[in-house]
Amino acid sequence: MELRKDPITQSWVILGQREILGESVEECPLEPGKVDKLPSILTWPAEGAWQVRVLAHPEPLYHVEGEPGRSAEGMYDKMGAIGAHEVVVETPAHEKRMSQFSDEEIERVLWVWASRIADLKKDARFKYVSVFKNQGAMAGEEWAHAHSQVTATIFVPRRIKYELSAAHEWFKDKERCIFCDTVKQEEKQGKRIVDVQGEYYALCPYASRVPYEIWLVHRRHNHLFEQPRPGSNRRQLAALLGRVLRRLEKVAPAFHLVVHTAPSTKSKKGELAGYWKTLAEDYHWHIEILPIVEKRSKSYSIKEVYFNAELPEQAAAQLRTLDPNS
Ligand SMILES: [Zn+2]
Ligand SMILES: [Zn+2]
Ligand SMILES: [Zn+2]
Repeated sequence: MELRKDPITQSWVILGQREILGESVEECPLEPGKVDKLPSILTWPAEGAWQVRVLAHPEPLYHVEGEPGRSAEGMYDKMGAIGAHEVVVETPAHEKRMSQFSDEEIERVLWVWASRIADLKKDARFKYVSVFKNQGAMAGEEWAHAHSQVTATIFVPRRIKYELSAAHEWFKDKERCIFCDTVKQEEKQGKRIVDVQGEYYALCPYASRVPYEIWLVHRRHNHLFEQPRPGSNRRQLAALLGRVLRRLEKVAPAFHLVVHTAPSTKSKKGELAGYWKTLAEDYHWHIEILPIVEKRSKSYSIKEVYFNAELPEQAAAQLRTLDPNS
């Protein structure tokens, strides 16, 4: 595996071959009988029967060992794919999707995500830790068994960089968090909010990239997903996520989910980049869900400018009418 940087867009692209493993229960490598024989990075609950188990990815995109070996090829930059790549087995049950989990079960998965982000951020080499979940063949899921993935990279992914610099510019100008402002505006207008649980909101963003795009945002400011604000209730976030997924499954067969949190501020040199000085004030963690709607999956092919035929106001109105309980 090799990472190459597009000098124009500054995007890192990972290049290399990958093998995808089988889908049936017999072939499923995430079955408890097989998983129990592998070294566990984290098991939750720690005692008794486990629900969530974290393993090293069998076909990792990134490898922990080795040196980044940053090098140049003329004007181009490349480096070895150094990082961590883990699989979070979310349930021992092969057929159970996250939308069928209890609130408590989803909360355990959220806790494991947070705990892996916090742990991987201790390694000063890693600039960012991503948690994502691809569900459904169209989302490029690797196994049918409910799972998510964690990657730690020595660079900050481009979309996060965009968010960081936009949030920083907003803060410099207004001394307010752009995400907190978004929540306030959405509360006032109401039309793009899909659901609310306690202090957590699910909304279709104003410039939704794909039909039924949904963000889960905490009403109260915090830049770190892995470090919940004192007094915040993650069970409510879990309940909201379950309700959103049950609604979405009625309109979209597959989705990408990604947790966006602040990058690591640890650096080997001990100094922080400019925009990281106000990071705690200007960035705000959130979860983005990008559903894949079969007949409109075309919208993904026009990446330069997203084309979305579904207005977020209509998407939110439709999602509100769908049953979040079954
Ligand atoms: Zn399985
Ligand atoms: Zn905020
Ligand atoms: Zn984001």
